[in-house]
Formats: sequence, C-alpha cells, structure tokens
Amino acid sequence: MNSRSELFIGGDWVAPQGTETINAYSAATEEQIGSFPEASPADIDSAVHAARAALTSPEWAEISQAERSALMHRFADVLDSHKTDRARTVSMQNGMPISVANFAEGDGVVALLRYYADLAKTVELEEVRPRLDGTGTTVVQRTPVGVVGAIAPWNFPAVLSMFKLAPVLASGSTVVFKPSPETTLDSFMLAEAAQEAGIPAGVINVVPGGAETGKYLVAHPGVDKVAFTGSTRAGRQIGKVCGELLRPVTLELGGKSAGIILEDASVEETVAGLATASLLNTGQTCYMSTRILAPKSRYAEFVEAITAMASSLPVGDPLDPNTFVGPVVSKTQQERVLGYIEMGKAEGATLTTGGGKPKGIDKGWYVEPTVFSDVDNNSVIAREEIFGPVLSVIPYSDEDEAVALANDSEYGLGGTVWTADKDRGLGVARRVVSGSFGVNRYDLDWGAPFGGVKSSGLGRELGPEGLEAYFSLKSIFLGD
Ligand code: NAD
Repeated sequence: MNSRSELFIGGDWVAPQGTETINAYSAATEEQIGSFPEASPADIDSAVHAARAALTSPEWAEISQAERSALMHRFADVLDSHKTDRARTVSMQNGMPISVANFAEGDGVVALLRYYADLAKTVELEEVRPRLDGTGTTVVQRTPVGVVGAIAPWNFPAVLSMFKLAPVLASGSTVVFKPSPETTLDSFMLAEAAQEAGIPAGVINVVPGGAETGKYLVAHPGVDKVAFTGSTRAGRQIGKVCGELLRPVTLELGGKSAGIILEDASVEETVAGLATASLLNTGQTCYMSTRILAPKSRYAEFVEAITAMASSLPVGDPLDPNTFVGPVVSKTQQERVLGYIEMGKAEGATLTTGGGKPKGIDKGWYVEPTVFSDVDNNSVIAREEIFGPVLSVIPYSDEDEAVALANDSEYGLGGTVWTADKDRGLGVARRVVSGSFGVNRYDLDWGAPFGGVKSSGLGRELGPEGLEAYFSLKSIFLGD
C-alpha cells in the first residue's frame, strides 16, 4: 500500500492543512493500492506563494541558461534511474499496458526533459534588432511567464505532466501542478526526483485533488498562466475563466480523429499500424484514429482484417509485457464506454467483434476491443470521443469524400492516412484540418508542435514552439 500523508510544497514534504484524503485504486484488481491527502485551498495558497517566491529566488532567477540546463539534465538522470518504478506505478493505477508505460511514462519522460534541457541552452533570451525605421535598435526580451498552474489527466499522467514541467523549467518559470486523482502516486515520485536532483525549493509544487482543486488553482490570483490537458468539457470551463481573467492558457483537449485507408493500402501493414494508431493504451489516448474510413471498393476486406486484429489483441493484466489491451481507468469509465457500445448497437451499426466485458476476467474494469462497421459519420459513436477500445469503420466512395468525412467533426487533434504512395498520403494529410497527422504511422515527435484545432484545444505543446508559451515577450526601444 502506497500511503502518503504529506504534500510537496516549497521544496519540502509538509503536513496538509485540510483533512480530506483520496484513495488510489488498481484498475486491474479494483483494490485500493494507496491514499494521499487532498490539497485544500489553504494548501494551494501555500503552493502558489512558494512558486511566486521561487520565481525571484537567486538560485532560480539568477542562474544562467547553461546552469538551468545542467539542473534539468540532473533531474532527467534521477528520473531515468526511477523509470521502471514510475512506469509500474502508472500502470498499476490506470491499467496502462506496461510495454506502453515503459516507453511513454518511463523513457518518454526522460527524453522529453532532456530535449527541453538542451533547448534551454540555445533559446535566445535577448535579441537585439535594428529598428525598422532605421533610427536605432530594439531589444526583444523573453522573460519567464511566471507561476504556471498545470493540470494533467490520468491517461498518460507522467509524460503529460512533463509536457508542462519541462518548458516551465527551461523558461525559468515555476509551477503548481495538479495531477488527476486517479493517477497521483506517480506525481509524488516526480516530486521526490526533483528534490533529489536539487531543483530549487518552490520551483515545483504538487497539489493533489479533483476538479474543485483544479478550479481553485485556475482562478488563483497568484497564477500567471494555465496549462491544461484533459476533456473538452473541462477545457471550455477553464478557457472561460482564463478569458475573464485575461490569463494565458494552453488547452490540450479531446479528439475523434480519422484513420483514412486509401484504396492502394496494404491490408497487413495498415491493420498492423492501426492497432497502435487506434487502440494504444486501450484506446485511452487523445489522438487515436478511432473513426476508420475505408474505401467502399475494399470495404469488406478491411472490416474483416480490422475485426481480426481487434479480436486477436492480448487482453489482460497490464503488468504482463504481452498485454496490448488492459482495463480502462475506472468503473465510471468502463460504464461510459459500455454505454457507448450499447448506443452504437441501438443506432444500427453492425457489431463485428467485442461489445461487452471480456469473458473469463472477473476483476478489473475491462472492456473488450470492439469494432463497429457500417457506421454513419453522423451517429453518436462517430461524433463523440469514447476514450476506450472501440472503433467505428465508416465507408467512403472517393478521396474527396474521405477528406470531407475526416473534416466533418467537432474535433481536430490527430488522424492518419494509410497508403502505398507516401506522396499521395502527404496530399491527403495536407487537406485534413487538424493539429497533427500521420502518414502510415502516428507517433509524436518531441521536436514538433502538438495540439488541436476546433474543439481539440488552443495553443501548442512540444517542440521549440511549445516553449514559447512559457515566455513573456518585452520590447525595449533603445535611445541614445
Ligand atoms: P478531465 O477533463 O475530466 O480531467 C482532466 C484534469 O482536469 C484532471 O486533473 C481533473 O481533476 C481536472 N479538472 C476537471 N475539471 C476541471 C475544471 N473545471 N477546472 C480545473 N480542473 C479540472 O479529463 P480526464 O477524463 O482526466 O482525461 C481524459 C480527457 O483528456 C480526454 O478527453 C482526452 O482526449 C483528453 N486528453 C487530451 C490530450 C491532448 O493532448 N489533447 C492528451 C491526453 C488526454
């Protein structure tokens, strides 16, 4: 049992000022695996105060970018040494298959931090430009954005928190981080690693809690910027509050991306690629290609192959390295996903595999990998984000219709195209309205911006562009 009684605030483990606790559960066994304090408003006040103080502390504000970079690499070294434990802790909480957790929550966290550590050394904090009117120069200065209120979801908790923490550190900002209640135990490990690496007191603070804790943090007068990853519903509420406060905000939200199979695609390669591009982490990944658009000319062949792929994926214990489909994160999520499956059946789509809880597994919040064919793009299962192992295969006549169907969505986060002709794929990729897209693959590149358009979000994370959101720009017009 991983029971915690303290919070990480101001570089120290401190007793909470409130009395509420939250329990952590295993998605695979449904058993309690830990507990931790919920941060009260008074704890969040302390955390924001500590983050504000750290912002101007000599050990954080006055170090060079080279020293900042070295500190970040030290933090990465410590995180690297704990990667197996961290991946396991994530997997035990949210049911993420351990092969995915090792890659994303173990190694991914470290690689991402190192990338921003290197970027910290090269970013230009002051640039002297000749004035356009030819009468002298202007200094354009990048200063840390300030105290960042960062909020992460449960699906990739460690790496998604690093999407925010790495640029916070590279920019010289500070952070009050609120993890998701389903996946908080790994955030304590992150705090311990920061402490071990010598990240100055108050630069990183962790305030566990649910939506109410998040709301308090977002609206806190001591917060300068909000960085949020989660549902579109919560993102809209946060955007509203930040709009009223004129507070900078980045929102990484939901998706319902299309996987377009072109007529010339190889069935084996496409279906092997789609397993990861549509069902990674049991479908609980924001950019999954869950609306699979298949050409009418080869529709039956692709439906059969996708059905065979989904029904053959190993379902089971997330800690088993062979597992591809684990449990979903919680009972609520399981009920939500099963509810969508019932809706798909009621809407008249054809269920080709799955459709319920897997037989022979009597514990854990599992849902069978499920495929619907003959899905109408206007049906609920094609329009709403299900966030589970459920795929809809939608027929199309020609490339124009495929692109139109892909774009006929409230969301615009990811998507893929599968083809024997890379150039043709690139042409399709250019026509789909989304923040990212894959040709015969979909995996993020830490060096390229990631984010959504339409209801999938505002702003970008990752790449040098992701770092820009953590700076304020100031122009100083130099006279004689
Ligand atoms: P969620 O929106 O319910 O919760 C996300 C986080 O926000 C949690 O920490 C939660 O406690 C907090 N929260 C909830 N309501 C809040 C509010 N009004 N104010 C402040 N904080 C609030 O989402 P979830 O169920 O944890 O995560 C799944 C969702 O996240 C999916 O929609 C998925 O697509 C999305 N997601 C998006 C990306 C991306 O990069 N675009 C990545 C991963 C997940």
